[in-house]
Amino acid sequence: MYLILFGPPGAGKGTQAEFIVQRFGIPQISTGDILRAAVKAQTSLGLKAKSIMDAGGLVSDDVVLGIVSERLSMPDCERGFVLDGFPRTIPQADELKSILSNMNRSIDFVISLEVNNIELVQRLSGRRACSACGKGYHVVNAPPRLDGVCDICGSALLQRDDDREESVTNRLAVYDQQTAPLKAYYLSSGVLRSVDGTGSVSQIQERICSILEGQSVDNP
Ligand code: AMP
Repeated sequence: MYLILFGPPGAGKGTQAEFIVQRFGIPQISTGDILRAAVKAQTSLGLKAKSIMDAGGLVSDDVVLGIVSERLSMPDCERGFVLDGFPRTIPQADELKSILSNMNRSIDFVISLEVNNIELVQRLSGRRACSACGKGYHVVNAPPRLDGVCDICGSALLQRDDDREESVTNRLAVYDQQTAPLKAYYLSSGVLRSVDGTGSVSQIQERICSILEGQSVDNP
């Protein structure tokens, strides 16, 4: 199954992608995670991307497409994948289409998670993650037992640089300008499915499952 999880920053793409990985046994490909790993490892890619990411801008299409085409050529992608945070521009979507068409594949569904801007800002600004094990928290919705400390491993919780207020505003504006037009792009190819992205994580999982399990797909 070849899927795209689509939506603005804070819509829950990463959370729902984890569930899809477990339920359907396909890998999650998050361009944000790949870029953050490069920043952490201080590779030349990471050094180039860091200031753009911190400001909430988009890394160039060339760079992101290089990362994605390399990742999609790996053997674990042969039976499908769930893309999270990619594509984010029309040229990225065009290039994805041509990479897949060379593999005789196509996207089965684009699941668009719909969440209003007030809730997105509230979700992003309260988001924290453990600096050691990566477990995610939210200061209001899913707080740790002890303020600022991971329940699992006791390490400090950190806020992503791009979850600070100035970056969040920019990320939402960039989404509206450059990424939201992809909804019309995928609507016209018949694969877009809009899902209410509010409510509990399990409610949203059920909505996604009713789409993925309710329909047969052409790709094996
Ligand atoms: P995310 O974790 O998906 O919110 O991505 C974090 C940041 O990584 C974004 O704000 C961008 O700066 C960069 N990024 C991730 N995916 C892409 C992409 N497909 N195109 C351009 N930049 C990206």
